[in-house]
Amino acid sequence: MSAIVGIDLGTTNSLVGVMEAGFPILLADGDGERLTPSVVHFPAESAPLVGRTAARMRAIDPENTICSAKRFIGRRVGEEADDVAYLLAGERGEPVMIRARGVNRTPEEIAAEVLKKLRADAERALGEPITRAVITVPAYFNDAQRNATKLAGELAGLTVERIVNEPTAAALAYGLDRLKERSKIAVFDLGGGTFDISILELSAGVFHVLSTNGNTRLGGDDIDAALVAHLAERIAGTQDAALRTRLREAAVEAKHRLSESEATTVEFPFVSGRESVSLSLTRLELERIAAPIVERTRAHCLRALADAKLTPADLDEIILVGGQTRMPLVRRLVAKIFGKEPNTSQNPDEAVAVGAVIQAGILSGAVQNVVLLDITPLSLGIETFGGLMSVIIPRNSTIPIKRGEMFTNAVSGQRSMLVRVLQGEREMARDNWELGKFDLEFEPAPKSQARVGVQFEIDANGILRVLARDTKTGRERTVEMTSAVDVSDEAVEKMLEDSLEHAFEDMNDRAFTEAKLKADEMLPAVRIALEQIGGELSAEEKQTIAARVVEVESTIATGAAQPLKKAVAALDEATQGLAALLVERAVKGR
Ligand code: AMP
Repeated sequence: MSAIVGIDLGTTNSLVGVMEAGFPILLADGDGERLTPSVVHFPAESAPLVGRTAARMRAIDPENTICSAKRFIGRRVGEEADDVAYLLAGERGEPVMIRARGVNRTPEEIAAEVLKKLRADAERALGEPITRAVITVPAYFNDAQRNATKLAGELAGLTVERIVNEPTAAALAYGLDRLKERSKIAVFDLGGGTFDISILELSAGVFHVLSTNGNTRLGGDDIDAALVAHLAERIAGTQDAALRTRLREAAVEAKHRLSESEATTVEFPFVSGRESVSLSLTRLELERIAAPIVERTRAHCLRALADAKLTPADLDEIILVGGQTRMPLVRRLVAKIFGKEPNTSQNPDEAVAVGAVIQAGILSGAVQNVVLLDITPLSLGIETFGGLMSVIIPRNSTIPIKRGEMFTNAVSGQRSMLVRVLQGEREMARDNWELGKFDLEFEPAPKSQARVGVQFEIDANGILRVLARDTKTGRERTVEMTSAVDVSDEAVEKMLEDSLEHAFEDMNDRAFTEAKLKADEMLPAVRIALEQIGGELSAEEKQTIAARVVEVESTIATGAAQPLKKAVAALDEATQGLAALLVERAVKGR
């Protein structure tokens, strides 16, 4: 059997490795370098350049040099600010395309170029063909982003044996030497484009992810952008794209230097004979600029702790990974949030790749006695009556997982049911992402008589399959959610922020919808009953019912949940006598 390689496909840099003689080994390219910049340059005539040679072209030809393509993978136009030097194409709401040399390519095609290089480097280092890989993704990647990553692997000629969450991979790298220990750890992963926080329990070789949280659009790139904006204010003529790229490079280098020293100078050699500029920048200034960005990680950490039902004191170690955690400000914030100094034993650039290699070893049998229990970061469900989100698999459920639920028809005589598959944490379907939808036909049945079973299955890669079956006819449809096109416009982190921000309104919306569904059922039933047997009620009773009906109708118009709930309950109470008479009639009439 051929080896399975582990790949960290990063926003900024990528790495590849393999298990050798029981150890995870990262492989170097022809130049002896292990870190490959995730950059692809398209020259006018020859084949694309990838990695360091491509990165060098960034300043010279930014329009045809694609970096950070991972930010666009599995995304639609309009979801992501296009603050990149190259051109984005595609219609609004459609999958993002990247334009270079007049050709539109998908982000997964760009990622595939990076993967092809890693594959070739691995083949050279190992002296054998490589066709199988484990690839890591941010834990907070949704279904479409995972599928697009898998596709990128396939375009590079690799069978993707497993998609692993980056912080989980980092935990494997940390825990491999500690298989006998029992501990609870957090992995704080702040990279170039994404932030992930995961909490795990390690016990006798079992890596159990308890919770995960994060933001697929928060990272070092944001600090760079803020720093560039700050520096640009001090220099004239920085509107020009090529100058801006140079300024960005100088800013990133200065940011890195300020992790070691207190002050630095940003040298800014102007092109086309203009004067050079040098600006002084202190760590304090950088921290002032970066603080609001770094601070945004805090809420995610607190949510992950709450979801794991732990307090900071329960954690034994906070493992730092991701290049941006080298910044002293980040380390201080982590210490503040968790009340202890973070663990910096892992190489922040390599831990995720090492973990990918270990997972590849688990799959190939090279690593034994290690079990990984990962979780799904976002809830999955379908839309039900009244536009509500009905969760089938809650977030933070251990994967792989299979869960099903029965649904019925809302309208009598209905012949089909639209299954809208949703991902997200909001109560109302419209606020979540639609992953896909399909129709299931069933035999016409009176209201609430049809029985449709919907089953969700998430595989070990975090990828979803949905099956819907009409239990009467056995007719069924299975749909694998594979298309990035089906991901809606909302953003992951926005989803979570919104779910917190709108928790109250959401609850109100749900309560109102439920009360209104009940009212919609009761009002016509009461009307019919009054017509049929209203004569048997006292005038006073009839008057009360009439008043309560008006009350329900007018409260519906206000949209307020609690008053409607009360009004419906009052109508229910007022019609007890009527209901009893109906039952009596039914019994007598038999
Ligand atoms: P990653 O995605 O894990 O490769 O992280 C890349 C991010 O880490 C980029 O935003 C880098 O600018 C940042 N980074 C790398 N080295 C340092 C450093 N020494 N100090 C601060 N940030 C760094």
